[in-house]
Amino acid sequence: MRFIFLFTLISVSFLGFYNCKKQNDLIEQKIVDSLFYTQAEKSIIFSADSTTPFTCLSALDSQQLQILKKTSRNVKTNNDTTNYLVHRMYRTLFQNQGLTNLAAPEIGINRNIIIVQRLDKTGSPYELMINPKITQHSTSTTVYAETCITLPGAYPANVDRYNLIFVEYYDLQGVLHSEMIENQTAATVQHAMTHLGGGVLPLTIDPLAFTGQEIDSIMSDADSIPMRIFLTTIHSDSLILRKQSIDVRPDSNDLVLMTLIKRMRAALATTTGVGIAAPQVGINRNIIWVKRLDKTGKPFEVYLNPKIVMTSSNTILFNGDGCLSVPGVNGRTQRWAAVGIEYDLLDGTHHTEVVQGTSSTNFTAVIFQHEIDHLNGILFIDRIAKLLQTK
Ligand SMILES: [Zn+2]
Ligand SMILES: [Zn+2]
Repeated sequence: MRFIFLFTLISVSFLGFYNCKKQNDLIEQKIVDSLFYTQAEKSIIFSADSTTPFTCLSALDSQQLQILKKTSRNVKTNNDTTNYLVHRMYRTLFQNQGLTNLAAPEIGINRNIIIVQRLDKTGSPYELMINPKITQHSTSTTVYAETCITLPGAYPANVDRYNLIFVEYYDLQGVLHSEMIENQTAATVQHAMTHLGGGVLPLTIDPLAFTGQEIDSIMSDADSIPMRIFLTTIHSDSLILRKQSIDVRPDSNDLVLMTLIKRMRAALATTTGVGIAAPQVGINRNIIWVKRLDKTGKPFEVYLNPKIVMTSSNTILFNGDGCLSVPGVNGRTQRWAAVGIEYDLLDGTHHTEVVQGTSSTNFTAVIFQHEIDHLNGILFIDRIAKLLQTK
């Protein structure tokens, strides 16, 4: 086996300097020993017959996470235990539909074995790579949205992968293979190999990632189709309208985010409204559309994660405040005469701006206050009530 031989050569040249053969033998013995499976490993591998899939570990379980975080060791080829382990790993892959790769640590064995689906080959076969090594890679990378069997229920996380890799690996017979692999398959190999290094994926659960429920609701129709406007007169809608919203990650390549923004705009276009906030279409995210009455052409603009960070010292009474979500009600509200706001744009840039305008023709400052209120579960009717109380 060539890899042992190589390793021995390195040891010999290093230790030869000290001319210490005894120590050299000891190290060589240790390397050979590490190839043998421990009793603990064998008890997992032979826990069932060779056609029974393994149970995959979960990175969400703290004890199993410790196993996933360990660095894996090489294995022997031409070995019955390895054959048995690989056989059950294949069964595990086939049992989990849609799974494109499996690394031994994911089933609790910290050994350098991966199986990957070769999307670059006819028929997309699953191929085994024993003791794989990436010997070279491109500098260019592509971001892939990846999931992992050890993160059940997590949504895809964006991970950078090299576009091209050179991989050396062994098959079950101990034959060395050396290959150049590109694109999606290269990404799959890199994902699987991350597990061998004890990487619990560069995948973390993104707290800002859209939830499955949000995705279902946003992606239920084309981006030109208005989302339904939630109303305070419907109990379940009012619960959403009263919830605190959370930020989004600005990203014009995020299909879900872009669809949400477009469908909010489409919903607003069905009305005579001058602004809309994401909770009004049932999504508790910090996104608002505002008609910029203070700008030439009065364009509608979208703002992500807007916050009021400053206010004028004086307030005004604004006549005729109203809301698409509160049908049939208009009222006089108390508003700041001007507000300092911060927000993100889709290109990821962060902005600070002072917005004025509280007149009947330019009430941009009021629109911002009204829409940002929505993100905090506040409705314009609350502003009326407050005024009455302070009278
Ligand atoms: Zn994985
Ligand atoms: Zn409103």
